[in-house]
Amino acid sequence: CGIVGAVSQQNIVPILVQGLARLEYRGYDSCGVAVYANGLQRARSTARVSELMDQIASTHLEGTTGIAHTRWATHGAPAVCNAHPHFSHGPGADAYSRPGRIALVHNGIIENHDDLRAALQAKGYVFQSQTDTEVIAHLIDSLYDGDLFEAVKAALASLRGAYAIAVFCKDEPHRLIGARAGSPLILGVGLDGQSHYLASDAMALAGVTDQIVYLEEGDVVDIQLGKYWLVDKTFKALTPEQRPVKTVH
Ligand code: GLU
Repeated sequence: CGIVGAVSQQNIVPILVQGLARLEYRGYDSCGVAVYANGLQRARSTARVSELMDQIASTHLEGTTGIAHTRWATHGAPAVCNAHPHFSHGPGADAYSRPGRIALVHNGIIENHDDLRAALQAKGYVFQSQTDTEVIAHLIDSLYDGDLFEAVKAALASLRGAYAIAVFCKDEPHRLIGARAGSPLILGVGLDGQSHYLASDAMALAGVTDQIVYLEEGDVVDIQLGKYWLVDKTFKALTPEQRPVKTVH
């Protein structure tokens, strides 16, 4: 299972799906990609990454910010509705008549998903999957007040379990937040000075960038075009000396 994410000025869909193909060796039962392109768009499949590529080619899915995922199901059967990325459209019985706001991928297990789901349902969130992951998307949505980094940090404080996540929001379409605790995630620094990437491992970005920042347990990264910030598990800012860019070979 694996994660790839990107913020760029170019169409990043080819980098996302080629990254997924490089992570196939880890095993998976389904896969998917979401991008920002006049709103949140996605393609998901319970077949191979090559089938996802065919869907993308026929629907001409493209965008400059996006996330992609290979899933190894832990909660909820392998099915398209349970495949990531998961969206939150906000609360209310009419939520799905509105455009999606939060897009999220996750590797790992959220142990307190039942309690979180019950609390979110009480706030009017309607779930579309049987996954533990969907609670994270709605939790971030429920905490979102115009600043995705703040919403993600607030959400992480409620999560128990293991995760690597990558998330973006339609209201801040050139921003991508990543976080890890118990599952791997790295930051790739683009060679053009603008693009930045997230991935489960550096190999997923082979041929894209060899400039890698290894996130440590509890780190959260805020990526925007041409810049990024890192904080540690106490949300204290990290310096470039504390999380240096390394060249991988
Ligand atoms: N627990 C999540 C799910 O079942 C993520 C699984 C994974 O790590 O791929 O959807």
